[in-house]
Amino acid sequence: MNMLTISPINAFSDNYIWLIRRGNRGFVVDPGEPGPVLTALNADGIELAGILVTHHHFDHTGAVAALKDETGCAVWGPPDSPAGPYDHTVAEGDTVSVLGVAFSVLNVPGHTLDHIAYYSPAEQALFCGDTLFVGGCGRVFEGTPPQMRASLEKLSRLPADTLIFCAHEYTLANLRFARLVEPENTELANFLSACERKREQNEPTVPSQISDELSCNPFLRWQSPEILKTLEAAGRLIDDSPDGIFTAVREWKNTA
Ligand code: ZN
Ligand code: FE
Repeated sequence: MNMLTISPINAFSDNYIWLIRRGNRGFVVDPGEPGPVLTALNADGIELAGILVTHHHFDHTGAVAALKDETGCAVWGPPDSPAGPYDHTVAEGDTVSVLGVAFSVLNVPGHTLDHIAYYSPAEQALFCGDTLFVGGCGRVFEGTPPQMRASLEKLSRLPADTLIFCAHEYTLANLRFARLVEPENTELANFLSACERKREQNEPTVPSQISDELSCNPFLRWQSPEILKTLEAAGRLIDDSPDGIFTAVREWKNTA
């Protein structure tokens, strides 16, 4: 049985700040804006006990100082982070107790070099910031495409029913691009329809599960013969290694 309740707080135009609750205590993940977080906390009388940071970008850390001032909560985040230092520096192999539930830290560089993710086997929950998105992945700003691919592969090996709490609602654009590179994938077509129905109702498409990503996300599907074929036909294939395929798909998405 799950101990934690996880719900989204909308921020900016398409960010999700995840609110983790147990009774009247809470954590937030990647707070970019203080206002929506304070409104959510006040609405339910929740005391903020901690903040988890996945990476230094402003839309994930912009509210850390204000929330800490307001509530006195502690902050966990990666080392060597341009937005740090944080109260608690954590990296691969470390564990964070979130309201009594253990989350292990995974290093997932690529989008930024300081990027980490938080994973709880008991809650089947992964907070992965801007590394893995529903149907897509973050842009490779600071690392290299092979580094990003290795980070995504690490996440893809988590149990199939793991829930992916990513930090943006980019799903429809991602899955429409995925259709372009893998048009015959019927699971993808069905998943896109299901996500479109959710967005029509103004519901989040996040979280998905690792199993959805393995069957639909072109950034995890470097084994797909159809993606190889599409890249080749588009004159975009660099080489047919996993890194070559990932890099070609990432470059295509950057300009699509
Ligand atoms: Zn980012
Ligand atoms: Fe972001």
